Amino acid sequence: MLAGLDPEQRSAVTAPAGPVCILAGAGTGKTRAVTSRIAHRALTGDISARHVLAVTFTARAAAEMRARLTALGVSGVQARTFHAAALRQVRYFAPRLLQGRAMPELLDSKARVVTLAAARVGLRADRATARDLAGEIEWAKSSLVEPGEYVVAAAKALRDTPYEPAKVAEVFTAYERLKRANGVIDFEDMLRAAVWGIEEHPDVAEQVRSQYRHFVVDEYQDVNPLQQRLLEAWLGGRDDLTVVGDASQTIYSFTGATSAYLVDFPRRHRAATVVRLVRDYRSTPQVVGLANAVISQARGAEARLRLELSGQRPPGPEPELRIFTDEPAEATAVAARCRALVTAGTPAREIAVLFRTNAQSEAYEKALTEAEVPYAVQGAERFFERAEVRQAMVALRAATRSVPGDTPLRDAVVEGLAAVGWAPDAAPAGGAARERWEALAALVQLAEEFAASPPASARSELASPAVASERLAELSIGEGAAVERPATLADFNDELARRAAQQHVPTVEGVTLASLHSAKGLEWDAVFLVGLSEGTLPTTYAKTAEQVEEERRLLYVGITRAREWLWLSYAVARSPGGRSRRPSRFLPQLDRSGGGTERAGSGAGPAARRVERRRTQIVSCRICGATLLAGPDRKLGRCPTCPSDIDEDLHERLRDWRARVAAAQKVPAYVVFTDATLTALAERRPARPEELIAIAGIGPRKLGLYGEPVLALVAGAAVEEVCSEKTLEIES
Ligand code: ATP
Ligand code: MG
Repeated sequence: MLAGLDPEQRSAVTAPAGPVCILAGAGTGKTRAVTSRIAHRALTGDISARHVLAVTFTARAAAEMRARLTALGVSGVQARTFHAAALRQVRYFAPRLLQGRAMPELLDSKARVVTLAAARVGLRADRATARDLAGEIEWAKSSLVEPGEYVVAAAKALRDTPYEPAKVAEVFTAYERLKRANGVIDFEDMLRAAVWGIEEHPDVAEQVRSQYRHFVVDEYQDVNPLQQRLLEAWLGGRDDLTVVGDASQTIYSFTGATSAYLVDFPRRHRAATVVRLVRDYRSTPQVVGLANAVISQARGAEARLRLELSGQRPPGPEPELRIFTDEPAEATAVAARCRALVTAGTPAREIAVLFRTNAQSEAYEKALTEAEVPYAVQGAERFFERAEVRQAMVALRAATRSVPGDTPLRDAVVEGLAAVGWAPDAAPAGGAARERWEALAALVQLAEEFAASPPASARSELASPAVASERLAELSIGEGAAVERPATLADFNDELARRAAQQHVPTVEGVTLASLHSAKGLEWDAVFLVGLSEGTLPTTYAKTAEQVEEERRLLYVGITRAREWLWLSYAVARSPGGRSRRPSRFLPQLDRSGGGTERAGSGAGPAARRVERRRTQIVSCRICGATLLAGPDRKLGRCPTCPSDIDEDLHERLRDWRARVAAAQKVPAYVVFTDATLTALAERRPARPEELIAIAGIGPRKLGLYGEPVLALVAGAAVEEVCSEKTLEIES
């Protein structure tokens, strides 16, 4: 078993009983390490497998852990989610603790009770708002915040609340009362009951603690205060606890999760064995290099435990950064590349397109449909299957009767959507309400695009039964006539129906469309990270420094999902001709000189778009091949961590020469050449002008000024030889 592990993993596996903290980066084999530790201890007779409780956060992860333990020849370990473990405990002890009373029913969703509670305090919460209120209650309960403490705690945590915090607190209070009156409990109550059972009942505590003696927690950066309290109750002061986590992947803070427990673990457990895993077995050095570059800019508490990953796989293709004029062009290009990958043999299920918010999925659903690439939306409904979108389509059909026929299409759509409570400049704050608003905003955007250029496919294609009979009539008059008339609301409704019908085709296996949040822990051969513009990533709703850092970590999680191919892109404008946006601040400083915006050809729908392909210049490390993104590294031509093959003597002479030139010209030394350029010169030892100009920081002007003396120094000349009074004079 130990043979399949690297030295760090092995030290985690063989660490003595007691606290162990594995700080493992993405793809470093956390699960392999923790399962091996359990197996090793069980098989060497150190512990009994049935005394182990291994907790994770998703049922999928728990199942994975059980499977690996079985494969390692160990059975009897309890590998469960916090919820499942708590539920099991509560069910077991309920008869004793409730003295014969029935165990309250467990709510599988808070929404219904929250809606009732909101009504009790005079609020009419729609479905989306109810979801956001439920989110606030969940956050509070997970953070051990009582209704009476909510207002202060929410202010401190800078929560984005659906109503005034005081109003939310009222809903929270009413919700708790309603639950009690109806004899139901929610998930957090169940965790609390598990804690209460142990903390208040010595006999329960004793039984639980004699059953579970060794604890393992995976993804520990996602633990919330309530779960931590339960973990401590289980432990009861003992310390045989192994935690595994990656602070740089903390992306669920908004639900109450905090990496503080992971970050503070070595301080709280002075005797802890701390192991760092940095060998990345998942991704190529190119992908790993980019991940390191992005996370190296991180600030704040999570960044203190930042790890620099080292890629273990053979080199692969460079990550690509692509810039497009608008989102439809971006989606079309992504779909075309997906198609090319599939054609070249990559299974569609090994490809993922990841975005920040679910509202972004529609453009990709459409583009992939057009490119005939199968796909599946993960963790969310397809755009046209969402309740709000279906309701909106009904409202828009009804609006064809009420909105005057000569109303411009966009205005007609906005008017129609007013019936479902949507207004253009009333984006709500809360998560679910915002998602609903954004989905309907996406419909308005579609209307704008449709009005600007009804896609050629809509005019000439009869593939879908949803094409209305009027359209047949139009087509018989000829395409020209159809284009002359401005698009009407009825046209647009047909278009929506056509898209919905096309995207309805269920797929068994396909490209994964997923939000960055739901991609955590997963991996694919090819990953497309799209929509990387300011306002989207980071979202405009990230206001505090901490919120911005969480957005940066989201990008990091996204990058580290890729095994081999990685594509990052953004569109300057949302729709053709729209307001322009800046690239995400998290994209490392890229040399854009060799690149340019990819533009769609003039006057055509997506089918006829001619994409101008120019790529941003990529500079790779000449030692390990990783992509270099930070300016100084690009100048150097290698990762700062890769071994330097510097010619020390040459470096010394170059510095001496630079000092003399700078003094003669009365300028600071870096004006002549920066340190990075000097190091690059001493490492690469250019022999010819072409090699000299290939070094970053040396352009035609500097080549003209200093080319001769530098080449002479490289060839072995002494500083005095190249620094005659005359040269210095000419230079100054
Ligand atoms: P994430 O942070 O994204 O959840 P992780 O740390 O859980 O990542 P794993 O998914 O456990 O990483 O491991 C990534 C891959 O590396 C797996 O396919 C695993 O089998 C492989 N791996 C782990 N350790 C080794 C090793 N020592 N030698 C070879 N392959 C390994
Ligand atoms: Mg994992």
